[in-house]
Formats: sequence, structure tokens, C-alpha cells
Amino acid sequence: MMINSNNKDSQSRVFTDFLTGHNTLRRNLHLLRLLESPPCRRCAAEEETAAHIICECEALASPRHAYLGSSFLETEHVKSICHMEL
Ligand SMILES: [Zn+2]
Repeated sequence: MMINSNNKDSQSRVFTDFLTGHNTLRRNLHLLRLLESPPCRRCAAEEETAAHIICECEALASPRHAYLGSSFLETEHVKSICHMEL
């Protein structure tokens, strides 16, 4: 399968923006005063941050396990994922 380099660059940029806080997660929208409260749209148990979505949201445990091999992740796991070729 051939991967278009522009598509790969685009995916990398989306992932980087997500991790660095340049995203439309509710926590950021709340900080920008565009949203009154930042609870997660999926579980409503925690603030919707990149760390919550990637590591600990219970509503995403199944797909996280399917794609990353673990239902919940620690920060160190995320660092190793960032160094993988996506
Ligand atoms: Zn959640």
C-alpha cells in the first residue's frame, strides 16, 4: 500500500496539534470562553483534554485496546507512541 506523503504530513500535523493543545477539545474551548464547562463528550466524568482522551476515557477503552493494545495508558506509553511511525 502506497501512502501519500501529503496525507501522512496532514495526519502528523493533526496528531501534533492534538497533543500540543491546538485542538477543539472542550477544555480548550472552555479556556477560550467559548464553552461554559469542559466535561468529556464521551463519558462526562472528567475534563475533555488530550491526555484524558488518549489515556483514560473509559468510553474509549475498547478502541484504545484494539488500536494501541491497552485499554488505559500511562504518559510514558504516549511518549513511545509519539515516536512510532503513524
Ligand atoms: Zn471521557
